[in-house]
Amino acid sequence: MSQRPFTVFTKTATARILGVAVALVKKLQVLAKTIWVYVQGKRPTFISKTRYKVDYLESRLDRSADIKITPVGGFSYTAHNLSNGKEYRLWCAPGRGLQCECKDYERQVQGGKVNPTCKHKLAVNQFLSDRFRQQA
Ligand SMILES: [Zn+2]
Repeated sequence: MSQRPFTVFTKTATARILGVAVALVKKLQVLAKTIWVYVQGKRPTFISKTRYKVDYLESRLDRSADIKITPVGGFSYTAHNLSNGKEYRLWCAPGRGLQCECKDYERQVQGGKVNPTCKHKLAVNQFLSDRFRQQA
């Protein structure tokens, strides 16, 4: 199965960054250092690639807040999404770090993303960070 390369430069991300509805984002063009954006009813504008990378993490971090992490043995975790009841497994793979079975993570892996990250992975990081702080 061939998959499109993963990109953070999407209409959805543009809509989040500009605070407009996705349907109004009509066209994106990836340039060398910025993204040219056309939103219906507005003048075309540019958004930096860095802004999209920040959005990639921020949007997942926001959604990781209501995920409950439970350790299930050696370097494995269950992520339970309290808002929709869904549950995903995460585990550490040698040389590849923490892996998740969710669609977001899988799409990034198949799209060739370096260091793929999903809200569940961010929730595990937060869980471990909180634990470490309690022990210190
Ligand atoms: Zn995930």
